[in-house]
Amino acid sequence: MSAFTVLNPATGAAVRDVALASVEETDAAVARAVRAQRAWAELAPVARADALRNFARVVEDHVEELAQLEVLEAGHPISSAWWEASHVAQVLNYYAGAPERLVGSQIPVAGGLDVTYHEPYGVVGIIVPWNFPMTIAAWGFAPALAAGNAVVLKPAEMTPLTAMRLGDLALEAGLPDGVFTVIPGAGPVVGERFVTHPDVRKVVFTGSTRVGTEVAAGCAGQLKPVTLELGGKSANIVFADADLEAAAAAVPGSVFDNAGQDCCARSRLLVERSVFDRFLELVEPAVAAWRVGDPNDESTEMGPLISAGQRDRVASYVEGANVAFRGSAPEGEGFWFAPTVVLAGRGDRIATEEVFGPVVAVLPFDDEVDAIALANDTVYGLAGSIWTRDLGRGIRVSRGVQSGVLSVNSHSSVRYTTPFGGMKASGLGRELGPDAAEHFTQTKNVFYATS
Ligand code: NAD
Repeated sequence: MSAFTVLNPATGAAVRDVALASVEETDAAVARAVRAQRAWAELAPVARADALRNFARVVEDHVEELAQLEVLEAGHPISSAWWEASHVAQVLNYYAGAPERLVGSQIPVAGGLDVTYHEPYGVVGIIVPWNFPMTIAAWGFAPALAAGNAVVLKPAEMTPLTAMRLGDLALEAGLPDGVFTVIPGAGPVVGERFVTHPDVRKVVFTGSTRVGTEVAAGCAGQLKPVTLELGGKSANIVFADADLEAAAAAVPGSVFDNAGQDCCARSRLLVERSVFDRFLELVEPAVAAWRVGDPNDESTEMGPLISAGQRDRVASYVEGANVAFRGSAPEGEGFWFAPTVVLAGRGDRIATEEVFGPVVAVLPFDDEVDAIALANDTVYGLAGSIWTRDLGRGIRVSRGVQSGVLSVNSHSSVRYTTPFGGMKASGLGRELGPDAAEHFTQTKNVFYATS
């Protein structure tokens, strides 16, 4: 049996070896899920809701432990890790409301009664990345379970520990064995088996556009529905009429949060030419003040990158680039990279490709039309921000930018009560929000003849 050594990104030290599941072990877990799913789906809706609320309560009781695990395996600052663990409980609580609200419809027809039902798919396979291991998993498993599916979840190789603990906590909370199973393993083994296994009826994939495209192609071959949450190269658009102080203060959080390893990172900063220099003068002290360091320190805002490989990849983008200024980062052990602001030109690699690190490419624009064109000059379409005091402009630009989630005068992207997902190469389908549980069902229409 092969294993993966989980490393602490802040020190580079080994944390633990985790066994990687084989295809046979994946098949056994799927078979258990198939056996458990029917009874789970047939539970009274209120009972499924109670089970999810109980799961949420148990997660709440273990927020500290889950947060510490997240710090250890992903290097997230402890304050973010607490937020993430609490968010898992909130998402579970939110979707605990879904089983009793998955209402179908009755359609007027002649000669009988016509009714639609929302039926679960059966077993759903969820594949998640390493950047937000707990929260992204919960966005999939909470609504999928609420809708009456069983879930098999594959965490990323580098960050299996929080997901494995959530698997234990589900059992502790009383979820029946097989309803929620975490299977640590390699992408091309366990993840690919989710795609090819005939009993996995729907796949949710969050990760790179490259692998997501392969997963989608595999699912297409079997006509298996797939939700894809992929990469991004989101724009932070600052107009001259904006509250420039507020916009500048928000820049570090908009792109250096989670060390830039955030699919929603505003990794392109587009600034109206007339205020370009003045705005960068405001951004520089905000970047210098961004606290990078020990993830266990509650005041830390940014930890290390996930791995040496990721750090080297990020460094390769910055090499030879026109660096305007940088923040600070610890030296020595661990996978550190200082927040970096780069002056870029249109079409530059650093301005078009997803770096997935604490690097922002800054470009000037001329007017509203130019800003929209520049924001859309990417294969991606996940998130973005628009800073302006002109409400009409905020509305026009938000309508023009091809992204799944946008914010005006804010850099927030995720609220579990609102839909989340990408356009173009950033994905297919939506997670979160009021409709997510329904996305884990198929509509069945039944006509009951009355004579
Ligand atoms: P990745 O694509 O390398 O891996 C993601 C997951 O897919 C991992 O669990 C991996 O083991 C698995 N995998 C790898 N090969 C596979 C295969 N052949 N079949 C099935 N599964 C396979 O991505 P990553 O490096 O872990 O994560 C970073 C990427 O994720 C970035 O591009 C980022 O933008 C994206 N992301 C997107 C969102 C979103 O919601 N849109 C959220 C977070 C991360």
